[in-house]
Amino acid sequence: MKQYYIDVIIPIPLKKLFTYSITTSEADFLKPGMRVAVPFGKSKIYTSIVYEIHNNAPVAYDAKDIHQILDETPIVNAKQLELWQWIANYYMCTMGDVMRAALPSGFILESETVITKRSIAPIDESILKDDEFLIYEALHHQSSLKVHDVVNILDKKNVLPVIKRLIEKEAISVEEEVYEKYKPKLVRYVKLHSEYASNEALQVLLDDLSRAPKQRDVLLTLFSLSAKTKKPVKVAELAHESQASNSIIKALIDKGVLEAYFIQKDRVEYLGENTETTKHLNSYQEQALDEVKTAFKSHSVTLLHGVTSSGKTEVYVKLIEDVLSQGKQVLYLLPEIALTAQLITRLQNYFGEQVAIFHSKYSTNERVEVWNNVLNNSNKAQIVLGARSSIFLPFNDLGLIIVDEEHEQSFKQFDPAPRYHARDTSIVLANIHKAKALLGSATPSLESYFNAKQNKYGFVELMYRYNNVLMPDIELVDINEKQKKKRMKGHFSDRLIEEMTETLKEGHQIILFQNRRGFSPIVECKTCGHAPQCPNCDVSLTYHQYRQQLRCHYCGYHAVMIKTCEACGSPEIDSKGFGTEQIEEEVKALFTEYKVARMDLDTTRGKYGYEKIITALEQQEIDILVGTQMLTKGLDFRNVKLVGIMNADNMLNFPDFRAHERSFQLMLQVSGRAGRTQERGKVLIQTYNPHHNILQQVSTNSYIDMFQEQMNDRYNFKYPPVYKQIKITLKHKDYNRVETASNWYAKSLRQVFRGFVLGPEAPPIARIRNQFHKNILIKIPKQQSLAKTKEAIIKINNSFLNVKDFRSVKVILNVDNF
Ligand code: ADP
Ligand code: ZN
Ligand code: ZN
Repeated sequence: MKQYYIDVIIPIPLKKLFTYSITTSEADFLKPGMRVAVPFGKSKIYTSIVYEIHNNAPVAYDAKDIHQILDETPIVNAKQLELWQWIANYYMCTMGDVMRAALPSGFILESETVITKRSIAPIDESILKDDEFLIYEALHHQSSLKVHDVVNILDKKNVLPVIKRLIEKEAISVEEEVYEKYKPKLVRYVKLHSEYASNEALQVLLDDLSRAPKQRDVLLTLFSLSAKTKKPVKVAELAHESQASNSIIKALIDKGVLEAYFIQKDRVEYLGENTETTKHLNSYQEQALDEVKTAFKSHSVTLLHGVTSSGKTEVYVKLIEDVLSQGKQVLYLLPEIALTAQLITRLQNYFGEQVAIFHSKYSTNERVEVWNNVLNNSNKAQIVLGARSSIFLPFNDLGLIIVDEEHEQSFKQFDPAPRYHARDTSIVLANIHKAKALLGSATPSLESYFNAKQNKYGFVELMYRYNNVLMPDIELVDINEKQKKKRMKGHFSDRLIEEMTETLKEGHQIILFQNRRGFSPIVECKTCGHAPQCPNCDVSLTYHQYRQQLRCHYCGYHAVMIKTCEACGSPEIDSKGFGTEQIEEEVKALFTEYKVARMDLDTTRGKYGYEKIITALEQQEIDILVGTQMLTKGLDFRNVKLVGIMNADNMLNFPDFRAHERSFQLMLQVSGRAGRTQERGKVLIQTYNPHHNILQQVSTNSYIDMFQEQMNDRYNFKYPPVYKQIKITLKHKDYNRVETASNWYAKSLRQVFRGFVLGPEAPPIARIRNQFHKNILIKIPKQQSLAKTKEAIIKINNSFLNVKDFRSVKVILNVDNF
């Protein structure tokens, strides 16, 4: 008889798939993409995904049996498994890494240790210590206990030693049990019990209830509610409408007068009613739409370069309409922070409940529901509007992927693996579905623009703002000169104050951009120059005035603000540089009559933190908003006329080869928030270096000049998009260890790649969370095989891991690092 096996993906970083043995009937039932619980290691049980079913016994080990089959049909489809495989290969990680990123955690079962009494023979209770006896005795009353029960019984945290001793004394045994994390949301409804369906029976009932007027009221309310809405009546609704307590309703249910039942509900539901028709495009948009369609005939990927407020979204909407009418699904990708209520509402107005939203603030249950709706090709998920991780949803027939704000670096996952770029991965996803991909931006990434110029992508431009709204007038303010002439008040030049005063007087709103949060990044002693440092990282702590704290933005360490210098005891503490909090403070002092708010990581925590500030700005409850790059994205504020960039220099001087490109993108995107109506917006950029080429290019809105100049640098210094690159980071808590290890690694790489290896080099922040870091960079010429390059790296990596001293060094491979 043939023996059957399955290869499964387990959500841990294992290099290979793992093989388990299955019976013939299990082999008939199982399909790739189903979940199976499997034992792993000594006592662990993991949720795994079936990758393949076959007849080949593993050579290195005996295949174990599976624990349990968890699905009746696959929850991951073949196209997804193909994408997972591509991600694992391209981004040099394991399938387990991809699985963990791809599946909502609600699908990954929790396993929990269950403690039961050993039933072989009663033991001599006198050998048990007091705490052991308590547990043993509890098991006389309860058939099993979980670890947290033991914690409660003993009233202490560390109970594992007790459990261990009980096992040794053969008093108990433990096993792992799995349970599903996802819980469908059930809503409770009531109806009249069928016994009272006839008029006669009902009459008798009502007579009976005349002695219980409250119950009678509830019943009558139920009738009127169902007559009115012609829908099932929720218990909550009935309680509300009849103003009866739950206990009265419960009494009716207990008596058998009412019957309660449950209906499974999606947690997120679109409640809007009618949809509106899509907008009529103007001639520029119409032309862009035609060009995109033409480009798609020869290119599966097309770049739409459209200035801010040119109406790109409306062009996308027309394309979406087309694809939906062919019965295909659409994925609309946006960076997390651009997924605003404004855009969601706009799409829902057009497409109603066909729009599903997917982002990180969703709970695991909400994510499972979106997943299932996409998997079942439900009408509720024809368009998925989502952030980075929505590329992992189980689409079965995608027709179009839109990547809006395609230049955004947040599309790249930084940590943990898979370190994938959602834009680049979505192009592969589109190919798997034979779908089209449209990348859109007002400030395209050099990568995409370069690909378009090379004719690898189709290319379409939309260079006019909708309704002929003028591009904002951008003015550079030399704060060096202003300082010399004593025309600065704090961080505000006289020009900025003038423009702000004017704008406020006209009743318009202002956005001030400062790309650092906190009060002032660096606190320094005026006497000895000492700056408080994070104990875990090589960075100075940032002062947050609101909480009177010093905080580390890398590891979250915080301490109370110092009153005197830790080194010399001097009470004169100075703050250098500045963050959003300090700007907010200064604005409040300068413009006492106006309402000032701040938007940064600190003020937008919580599910609706961000939304609240945006709504307040929209409703003009805020006159001046101070914020970080959070406020650059996808927002459309009618009444904002002035944008101030407090300091352009700290972005430009950031030590990264993309710093100039990013500064350009950031400044133009922030500028795009100014003057979205007939009145021309104004942008003031304060800088010590107004002659910087990037600032000149921003002020004249010359994307092409920026592109050409930056591309020259990229050619000269062998950077992407001209060369590909892979960054290898080594981390260890011992400095010498990481030093030796990284030298060994770089030397081995040099033997293969020669001059194309840079480093090892300590990053600007050499220690984070008590780990010392070293980076090695490999530059890969376009004509060199990427697959062969990776093979060589993996070989070196394997030899590295075989060196005993290096085994504890953590190695991170980052392909196309950002
Ligand atoms: P972008 O995405 O290019 O920044 P949007 O699509 O947000 O631009 O458009 C900017 C503004 O112009 C929005 O308020 C939008 O509703 C409006 N708009 C764009 N195209 C049209 C159109 N064809 N008809 C009516 N309003 C439009
Ligand atoms: Zn000092
Ligand atoms: Zn730190």
